[in-house]
Amino acid sequence: MTKVLIVEDSRSFAALVAKRVRLDLGFEPHVAYDLAEAEALLAADADYLAALIDITLPDARRGEAVDLAISHQVPAVVLTSDISDTMRESFWNRRIADYILKGDEGNVDYVVQLLARLHQNPQTKILVVDDSRSYRHAVTRLLAAHRYHVLEAATGEEALAVLEEHPDTRLVMADYSMPGMDGFVLTREIRRRFGKDMMAVIGVSAVGGARLSARFIKSGANDYLNKPFLVEEFYTRITQNLEMLEHIAQVRDMAEKDFLTRVYNRRYFFSAGSQLHALLSRRSQPMTVAMLDIDHFKNINDSLGHEAGDAVLRQMAQVLSSRFRVSDIVARLGGEEFCVLASDIDADQALLLFEELRATFEATPVLFGDIRVSYTVSMGLCSQSGLSLDEMLREADRMLYRSKSAGRNRVSLSRPGA
Ligand code: GH3
Ligand code: MG
Ligand code: MG
Repeated sequence: MTKVLIVEDSRSFAALVAKRVRLDLGFEPHVAYDLAEAEALLAADADYLAALIDITLPDARRGEAVDLAISHQVPAVVLTSDISDTMRESFWNRRIADYILKGDEGNVDYVVQLLARLHQNPQTKILVVDDSRSYRHAVTRLLAAHRYHVLEAATGEEALAVLEEHPDTRLVMADYSMPGMDGFVLTREIRRRFGKDMMAVIGVSAVGGARLSARFIKSGANDYLNKPFLVEEFYTRITQNLEMLEHIAQVRDMAEKDFLTRVYNRRYFFSAGSQLHALLSRRSQPMTVAMLDIDHFKNINDSLGHEAGDAVLRQMAQVLSSRFRVSDIVARLGGEEFCVLASDIDADQALLLFEELRATFEATPVLFGDIRVSYTVSMGLCSQSGLSLDEMLREADRMLYRSKSAGRNRVSLSRPGA
C-alpha cells in the first residue's frame, strides 16, 4: 500500500488532505501534528511516496521537518502560506520536490495531481545528455527528487545507444555543445527514429539564448531551456512536456480503440492489419486471421438487458487481449463481432489455441450484478499463406458462417481446397 506522510499542525487542513489522499488516490495517509510525531513515524518506517510538510510547526519553526524527510530520502512537498521569492529559493535550495500554497481548496487538487505523478514517475524514463559530469549529476538529482527513472549519456553517440536500449524513454534533455555530435545533430538523429508525439526533446544550452532555441526547435526539439535555470522552471517544463505526450497518447487511444471494450476498432484493424500482413508476408512468416461472433447474443440483450450484453462484450474483449501478444491485433469489428490477426501461428497451432479459447468462453460466465451470464462464441479461422488480408478475412468469415450453421460454439478452419 502506498503511504503518504502529512506533517501539519492544523488539524482541519491535515484532515482535508488526508481524506483526499485516501479517496482520490487510494493511498494511505499518515498524519503527524508536529516534528516529534513525524520523527517517530519516519523512524518506524520511512517508506513514504512523499511527505507533505507544513513549514511552521509548533516544535519546528524553520522547516526542520523538511530536512528530516529529505534525510530519509522521502520527497518533501512544502505547504506554506508565504510566497516571497527568497522563501521560494530557500525551499528549492533544500531540494524539496515542490511547494504548495495553503489556503484554497484548489491547491489540494494540485497536491493530489502531484502525488499521482510522483507515484507514476518511476515508470517514466528521462535521458540526460551532457558532457559535463557535474551538470548531469545536478540534473539527475533534481529528477530523482521527483522519482523519475533517470538515464545518462556523456555524448550524442552514447545517447543514441541508450535510446536503442530504452526506446520507451519519454523525454531527452540534450545539451547543445558537446564534443563530437552536438545537440542539434543529436536531436535530428532522435527524430529519424522517434516521433515528436512519442518522445519529447528539450534542448539545453548555456550560450546563444534565443537563436539557439529556434534552431533546436527547427531540429525537432519540443522545447528549450537556458542554463542556468531556476529549479521551479526546470520542473514545470519537464511536467509540461510529459503532459503533452500523455494528451497525445490519450487522443490516439480514443481514435484507435473501441470505447466500450478498449480493444482496437475497425479502422485501426484495417490500417495496422495491412501493415502487419505485408511485413509477415515479406518474411514468409505464418499468420492466422480469426473471426469471432457471440452466439445468440440478441437473446442476452433481450432477456437481461443491453447492459448485461455490454458486460459480456467487455469480458470477451478482456479474455481475448490477455491471450495475444501486443504485436498481434485484437479488434472489435462491430456489434458482437471480433477479429484477431496473430503472427507466427500456423493452422495447427491456431486450431489448438482458438479451440482452447472457445472452451474458456464457454466455461467463464460473466458476473452481472448477482447473475451469472453464460455465453458461447463461434469462430472461423484462416491461416493460408499467399492470400491478401481481405481474402483471409473473407475465408475466416466463411468459416465463421460454417461454425454457425453447424450448431454454433465451435471453431472451423479454412483448409486449401476445402
Ligand atoms: P448469432 O448466433 O447468429 O450470431 O445470433 P446473434 O443474436 O448473436 O446475432 P445477431 O446479429 O442477430 O444480433 C446481434 C445483436 O448484437 C443485435 C444487437 O442489438 C447486439 N449488439 C450490437 N452491438 C451491441 C453493443 O454494443 N452492446 C450490446 N449490448 N449489444 C449489441
Ligand atoms: Mg452473434
Ligand atoms: Mg452478428
